Amino acid sequence: MLKSRRERLGRFLDEQGLDAMLFTSASNIRYFCGFSGSEGVLVTARDSAWFMCDSRYTTQASEQVRDAVVSEFTLKHAALAKLTSEQSFRRLGFEATFCTVSFYSALSKAVTDCELVPLESQLDVLRSLKDADEQASLAAVAQLASTSLHAVLPLIKAGVRESDIALELEIEMRKLGADGRAFDFIVASGVRGAMPHGTASDKLIGRNELVTIDFGAVKDGYHSDETVTVAVGNPDGRSREIHAVVKAAHDLAIAHVRPGMTCRDLDAMARNHIHESGYGEYFGHGLGHGVGLEIHEKPVLSPRSDTVIEEGMVFTIEPGIYIPGFGGVRIEDTVVVTATGCRVLTSASKELLQL
Ligand code: ZN
Ligand code: ZN
Repeated sequence: MLKSRRERLGRFLDEQGLDAMLFTSASNIRYFCGFSGSEGVLVTARDSAWFMCDSRYTTQASEQVRDAVVSEFTLKHAALAKLTSEQSFRRLGFEATFCTVSFYSALSKAVTDCELVPLESQLDVLRSLKDADEQASLAAVAQLASTSLHAVLPLIKAGVRESDIALELEIEMRKLGADGRAFDFIVASGVRGAMPHGTASDKLIGRNELVTIDFGAVKDGYHSDETVTVAVGNPDGRSREIHAVVKAAHDLAIAHVRPGMTCRDLDAMARNHIHESGYGEYFGHGLGHGVGLEIHEKPVLSPRSDTVIEEGMVFTIEPGIYIPGFGGVRIEDTVVVTATGCRVLTSASKELLQL
């Protein structure tokens, strides 16, 4: 897999007119050489690659890094300047969003006769299609997280603290082999459900409240992302109605995923349904986002995204309705795009469970 990733990167260098690419983000470094630590730099040219780190990571790098020359630096920018000069690079691309002003300032002073080319959205194409290894990792971590939720559902009842549910869920994931949680879980009950990002609080879950649980695990660098909204006891009619609307919007979008359509068109599938049901003003965020080595990746599914959906993309479908002072519902699955539609990787039930 590394070979085909590097070949794709070689074509990218041609397209961008670059001699080499400097990676500073942990996810791209892992993707292109296998190193899973948090500090280091990777430089890739067409036929060669160099990984450099400080002494804390040399042993780990020698074990993990594949198809790259590993070396240790004292001053990162000085080591990069030396390499750039030795290899006679004239144009070196770098990740503008993963480069501090101070590092850029030091690097640009140290590097001579080589243009540093900032890249942002151009890099989106590098990891947006998941290869077979990645799809397998994403399917495994999604399954692990869904299974964890299943084990925790019996604990969700009136009088239990939201944060205790979040803790139990994380413990369950760890027991099943997760490296950790993918993000701070959202456990939002009752009126707190109106906050799309209401992380678990000290609030006690009340009788007849909806509880939105947005959760995910990380394993081998890959993330999962899934949301269920369950009911404790007997929810009122309005709560049932918004759950039904969100569920229908979610199902509609999943049924219509096709390679060749734009992310905007897919977003509209769910958004139009919510709008026509009279809740349009309560669905403010985009329909979904890519998931992979990071929890939020490309593509973005929103009314502003003209990205074309392709086979091999992995993204979430997560419509929601959030009514201030009342509460809310979100339902989220992660899917992989196939030649004819999509396969859902997350597996917790999305029906309105009454606990
Ligand atoms: Zn989520
Ligand atoms: Zn999400």
